[in-house]
Amino acid sequence: MSEWTENFENDINVQIEGVKRLEVGYINMRLLNNTAKKIDEFAHNCTVCKQYKSDYNELLPELVKRIEESNFRNKYEQKLVEVSKHLKKSHSIMPKKYYASLYTFIGILIGLAVSYGITYSFYPNLILIALLYGTFTGLIIGRIIGLLKDKKLSKLGLNI
Ligand SMILES: [Zn+2]
Repeated sequence: MSEWTENFENDINVQIEGVKRLEVGYINMRLLNNTAKKIDEFAHNCTVCKQYKSDYNELLPELVKRIEESNFRNKYEQKLVEVSKHLKKSHSIMPKKYYASLYTFIGILIGLAVSYGITYSFYPNLILIALLYGTFTGLIIGRIIGLLKDKKLSKLGLNI
């Protein structure tokens, strides 16, 4: 871990000592620390990540104190989203469980389409029960494939 990331995490930990759980919940510590780690890794050859590091440095000193102000919180949340989007688009860093959610959705669609296709042609009176089974099977298969893909990314350190 670099000195910057270490200082960053320490600084936050000092700030949240004795703070109400609600405020800490607003901060989304896991995402903040993980994105900080990633932008630090990429900052030496990505000017955008370098800029984000200084944005984070600016936000940090007042973070916990001001997180209850809705203006500040909006600005902060927007920054997190912006950084996550950049990491995804430019560095192929995916949010945790990204593929699990995506493939679950795809699985459901395929399950519905296939069960509808089969029953519509051959067993039209069983259509409802078939859709139910189709959706369920698609959901399970999609989720398993997605989780495996997420696990692979996680092993490679490619998610936040
Ligand atoms: Zn970057």
